[in-house]
Parts: sequence; C-alpha cells; structure tokens
Amino acid sequence: MKSVDAHLADILATVRPLAPLELELERALGTTLAEEVSAPLPLPPFDNSAMDGYAVRAEDIAEVPVTLPVIDDVAAGSDELRAVGPGHAVRIMTGAPVPAGADTVVPVEWTDGGTASVRIERTAAPGNAIRRAGEDVQAGELVLAPGTVIGPAQLGIIAGVGRRRVRVRPRPRVVVLATGAELVEPGLPLGPGQIWDSNSFTLTAAVREAGAEGFRADTVGDDPAVFLDQLDAQLVRADAVITSGGVSMGAYEPVKEALGPLGTVRFEKVAMQPGMPQGFGVVGEDQVPIFALPGNPVSSYVSFMLFVRPALRKMCGLPAGPPETQTAHVIGALRSPQGRRSFLRGTLASDGTVSPVRGQGSHQLAALASANALIVVPEDVTEVPSGTAVEVIRL
Ligand code: AMP
Ligand code: MG
Repeated sequence: MKSVDAHLADILATVRPLAPLELELERALGTTLAEEVSAPLPLPPFDNSAMDGYAVRAEDIAEVPVTLPVIDDVAAGSDELRAVGPGHAVRIMTGAPVPAGADTVVPVEWTDGGTASVRIERTAAPGNAIRRAGEDVQAGELVLAPGTVIGPAQLGIIAGVGRRRVRVRPRPRVVVLATGAELVEPGLPLGPGQIWDSNSFTLTAAVREAGAEGFRADTVGDDPAVFLDQLDAQLVRADAVITSGGVSMGAYEPVKEALGPLGTVRFEKVAMQPGMPQGFGVVGEDQVPIFALPGNPVSSYVSFMLFVRPALRKMCGLPAGPPETQTAHVIGALRSPQGRRSFLRGTLASDGTVSPVRGQGSHQLAALASANALIVVPEDVTEVPSGTAVEVIRL
C-alpha cells in the first residue's frame, strides 16, 4: 500500500498554481496577490485633521482660556483654504486638510464650539490631532507582497492606493461530481435501497471553505459512459474535479471503470483509515487534476482534508503541505489497524484533551458532524491508552 505522505507528494508534484490574471477589485476577494502593490503617493496624501475642532497656531493658545476669531470653516474635501494668521482660528472637520499657518488642532470638546469666535479652554501642543502626510505609507512604499491572500482589509489598501484592478491568482473553480445509482437528491422521496446524496454537499462546501469556488454538478449513476459524458460537460469550467464514489474493488465502479483505461489517472490503495481507495490524475486536453475520492461520507471528507485541500492551496499559489496538527491528550483508549494511518473523529476541548466520538464507521456521518477534529494514529501504532499525547487535525 502507498503511504499517505507519498500520495500527497504525488498530488502536489502534479498540480500547478493557476496562471495570474487581472481582476476588478470587486472580484478579488479570496484570491492570492500575484504582484507587488505599492503606494503611488504618500498616505495620507496631505496633513489633515484627526478630529473635529479648530486649527490654530500653538503659540496663540499657550495661555488659556483664550477667545479667537474664527475666519474660515474647512470640511473634508475642501480645496480652497485660507491660511491661519496669528491670533486666528479655523473651524476644521476630521479628514480636512490643515490650512497653512496652523500647526495644531484643538478638539471641539476643549472649546465652546463657537462659529464666529471660539473660546478655547485647554492648550494643545504643536502637532496635536494632526495626521501627517505619509504617516501610514510613504510614496513608493510596498503595501502588499505577492502571495498575500486578499481579504477585506487587503482589498481596502489596494483601493486606498488608487487601484481599480489587481493581478492575482484566481480562486480555483472546482467541480464536484457524485456517483452512485443509489443516490437521490435531498428533498425528493427515497425509494427502496436509496439514500440521499450528502457527499456532493459536504465536498462543495469544503471546497468553498478552502477558498476555492465549488460547483456541485448533477449526480450520475453507475454507468461509466454517463459519468464520462457528465465529466466532459463539466470540464469546460473546471480547474479541478472531485468525484465521490465508484473507486473501490466491487462491480459497478463507474469512476474507476471510466478513468482507469485513460492511463492518466491512477487508482491506488493508500494506507489510511478511513479512505483507502484513492484515485488521482489528470483528464482532458487541459490536464485538469481530478481527485477520485471514495464514496463513504467520512472517507470522502477525510480524503478532501488530507489531499485536496493542500492541492487547492498550491493552485492558489500558497505554501502547501500536509494539514497542520496540534498535540492533545486523548481521553479514552483508541484502536487502529496495523500498517494504516487512522484519522479518528474526535472532539477537541479547550483544555487540550480530545475524545473520540461514538460511531467511528466511515459511513457514520452524524458522528462526523459531531466532531471537530481528526485524531491521527500512526501506521505502526495499534493501541493508544487513555491519556496519551496524540496529534490532531482541526476540522
Ligand atoms: P462507493 O465508494 O461508491 O462504493 O460507495 C461507498 C459507500 O458510500 C456506499 O455505501 C454508498 O452508498 C455511499 N455513498 C456513495 N456516494 C455517496 C454520496 N454522494 N452521499 C452519501 N453516501 C454515498
Ligand atoms: Mg458507488
């Protein structure tokens, strides 16, 4: 059997970061920056007031209280400014440019708020409540480096330096295609021998949570030809494809039967539990990566976390490797098959303990839904006594 690490290494050696493209800012959330973004101007671009108040010369308010005539009113966005002469005050709003001559701003709270003249009760040192040009960023300074994931604040600074478009690696478009003659669309009645399709919902959601775009394709049955048609139709919009089901050792395994003969997708046994049967390779003219995951709900989700998620990160242009683990102390004894790495479902508590959930079968979706972590038991370990330190992957 192939090791989990070797399988991930093969996948990461095959998938490539998506080619960069220019996107409108509105579409750039969640993408990875593929250029350096610098400020063409200093930010703020000009000295401006940090508060609503009065711009004055500090020397005129050395002795307080003092009353000064108010010679002008400057709002944010004002461009006609009268200089502040000795003994004068200008009423100023937050964000408005500080007029020439003034070297300090007295907050309105320290005054009587007058409009013709103002009585100032407290003195202010030079520079008070003034935001200096370039205090945030100097002209030419780098504000974001390539490889940065663009979140709301990163979008903000790109807009804040005046950019409308940005060069990024886009979010991978991932088609999720579930197979199985027994599958019924949730919301429709079940016939004998049927179950509701859950994997395609889990996997599409997992794709989105990983920062990619997930598309849930219509489920297909167990006919390899129908599967291939659907795959063909979906490939036009896919940077990657995830299938579920149809990769085991039984009969009626449409994914394996359809893709095996192509020679570009390998079906292997990976030394793990759950999730032993795994398929991976490329399909179509564009060599689109395809992850053929097993059908059992827990197996497919665990496989996603171990193999697909890192691959999606690589496609985004981000550092990619095995899922991060943390150490926890297990409450209760664990068992694991010899020679396979187990990923048991558990609940990780804030005190650093982890307890296996009841129901460790790979079909036990409710148990998975009650868990928040996978407890990793190495290949050569078959019994883990209660209290042992284990590695866990947060879900
Ligand atoms: P397979 O890998 O196709 O042999 O399926 C293994 C098990 O997972 C079977 O019990 C299937 O009924 C179940 N299964 C397959 N696909 C799905 C799905 N999309 N949603 C829920 N269960 C599934
Ligand atoms: Mg099946």
